[in-house]
Formats: sequence, structure tokens, C-alpha cells
Amino acid sequence: MKSYRKELWFNIPTRRAFINITPQVIECLRESGIREGLALINAMHITASVFINDDESGLHHDYEVWLERLAPHEPVNQYRHNVGEDNADAHLKRQIMGREVVVAITEGKLDLGTWEQVFYGEFDGRRRKRVLVKIIGE
Ligand code: ZN
Repeated sequence: MKSYRKELWFNIPTRRAFINITPQVIECLRESGIREGLALINAMHITASVFINDDESGLHHDYEVWLERLAPHEPVNQYRHNVGEDNADAHLKRQIMGREVVVAITEGKLDLGTWEQVFYGEFDGRRRKRVLVKIIGE
């Protein structure tokens, strides 16, 4: 069995963003040389997510509105976590959007469904953060 590991680094200039990282994951898969197996892609920070959904700007706007309704950033003093920091909402947003995804690798390709794309969800940006790509198989 082959094993491949890579960290993808991000420095998002805004507090929140959704980034389609499918091309980077495909590049990792190409580098790995693995044809059959599994790819795990996870955020390595507790205020960011990796998830799979549609690359559609209306949906991304809807996520932003929905997440802000669930866990509004302001007022920051509504959260007990916000003693000396202001990112409690980012922890909550990360929880609902998830930590990781697992994608099947079939015949050297990501075996994604129609319209499925892999996203990095940033909820407390403006600093360097990482995503782990681990691919195992043969
Ligand atoms: Zn925090």
C-alpha cells in the first residue's frame, strides 16, 4: 500500500471565505501516483472546515447568511469563549460545516458525484492555516 501526505497552506485576507480546493486535491492525487484508494482532506484548525458541496455563488451566499444566523459574529461579548479573543462564532461555524471529507479514488481520479467539489471553509482568517491531504491505496 502506498501512502501520501501533504499540507496545503492558506492565508485568507478576510475573516470568512469558501475556497474551492478541488484542483489542489487533484494535484495531490497526481503526485501520489495512487490509482485505487481513499483520500482524507481535513482542516488542521478548529476555526476552519473542509466540506463538499456545489461551487455556486448563490449557495455560498446562503451558507454565509445561514451560518451568521446560527452563530452571529457580533456582538462578540455574547460568547463565553471570547475572553481575550473574538472567534467563538468561528468555532461554532466550523462545527456545523465539518472538519473533514473522505473521497474514494477510482482509476486515478477523485470519485466525486455530479457537481461535488471540495471546499476549504475559513471562519477566522487573516493568518496562515493548513489543510491536510492524506491519500492511501495503490
Ligand atoms: Zn477561539
